[in-house]
Amino acid sequence: MNAPESVVMNIAERAADFPILARPIRGRRLAYLDNGATTQKPRAVIDALTQYYEQSNANIHRGVHWLSQHSTDLYEQARERVRGLLNAQSSQEIIFTRGTTEAINLLAQTWGAQHLREGDEVIVTGLEHHSNIVPWQMLCERSGAILRPVSVTDKGELDMAHYQSLLNARTRLVAVAHVSNALGTINPLDEIIRLAHSVGARVLVDGAQAVAHQEVDVQALACDFYAFSGHKLYGPTGTGALYVRADIMADMPPWQGGGDMIRTVSFERTTYAEGPQRFEAGTPNIAGAVGLGAAIEYVQQIGLRNIAVHEEALLAEATDSILTLPGIRIIGTSAHKAGILSFLVDGIHPHDLGTILDTEGVAIRAGHHCAMPLMTHFGIPGTARASFALYNSSDDVQALIAGVRKAQKLFGVGLDG
Ligand SMILES: *Cc1c(COP(=O)(O)O)cnc(C)c1O
Repeated sequence: MNAPESVVMNIAERAADFPILARPIRGRRLAYLDNGATTQKPRAVIDALTQYYEQSNANIHRGVHWLSQHSTDLYEQARERVRGLLNAQSSQEIIFTRGTTEAINLLAQTWGAQHLREGDEVIVTGLEHHSNIVPWQMLCERSGAILRPVSVTDKGELDMAHYQSLLNARTRLVAVAHVSNALGTINPLDEIIRLAHSVGARVLVDGAQAVAHQEVDVQALACDFYAFSGHKLYGPTGTGALYVRADIMADMPPWQGGGDMIRTVSFERTTYAEGPQRFEAGTPNIAGAVGLGAAIEYVQQIGLRNIAVHEEALLAEATDSILTLPGIRIIGTSAHKAGILSFLVDGIHPHDLGTILDTEGVAIRAGHHCAMPLMTHFGIPGTARASFALYNSSDDVQALIAGVRKAQKLFGVGLDG
């Protein structure tokens, strides 16, 4: 928790790299604390997109001309950057997708459709984002497999004894978030993956809330699949990736058919491309991939370890400060948390709180955070959520706290203090 002051100061100065943070909102300085929904983009990423369209644009993989080859090189360099981010063994284990949601649907419709039979079981957890529930539920409906959710404790941690009791020889897949988007809980992946493998199940990690905030190493984790979104990693919207271990990908059938995913086509029989190309039908988001590559380069220059330390310090400050106000309930009190603060204020609906904070230039999210089963578990309709990124500073935290106090005054609650 003790961030060296220098790390915190130096990183917060990077806010100057993000043009949008300089624009006032409702006449106020913007305190952007909705990073769990999407992050802002640094100049380096915006420039990479512009530069691509101004200097490099052409379709990839089929061209004989210079620009097409150049564009292909940039696209494949971006794949190599994603490999580096996840420390995958080979860039051929990286499939570009529109984001986490598409990555998980791809996996469900290819590997899942191939492997799940009636009576098989898929384990998800009580704190998953809808993106890591619904595709598996749809697949279970089609295949006759059974969805088994792991219980969550009052602290917002996975009930590991319950998880262990669910594992059995029929378990085909465990689908689990690396970090909970609603609570910030960091799940004990090492143990989850080891136990899943001991019954022969595969493991998909939803890394949407992890990759921008800590170092990830899919080889050390020994997970089989890892999904993330570019737009939560300071990259463009409509980008993301799915890591699939090479030996598993080799057997996976294609999903969308079209150009680029084939080797040969005839009316009698089509054969498919090898590797990630088999899953990338049609012209992909080339500029987006290049922008994602620039985003990865950007965070790697700062250092994901430094970013993690910085955000941990912001979370600690925000947690301590908000608890000095009356009537605050924090939802998600695990000892292992990333930079997400989910909370309720007595007597103020989270949506009203969000609206009042907005008038102060403080952007947070209010609602169920695409995790309705988790909200049901806590018996609440939703929470207010502040989520941190590398460009946030103590000023943003204090703007949040001042805004919550103002809301309490407006609502005439918590005035005893
Ligand atoms: C945002 C998020 C998703 C969905 O990501 P998209 O970019 O909307 O596809 C899935 N899981 C978690 C944990 C998320 O935070």
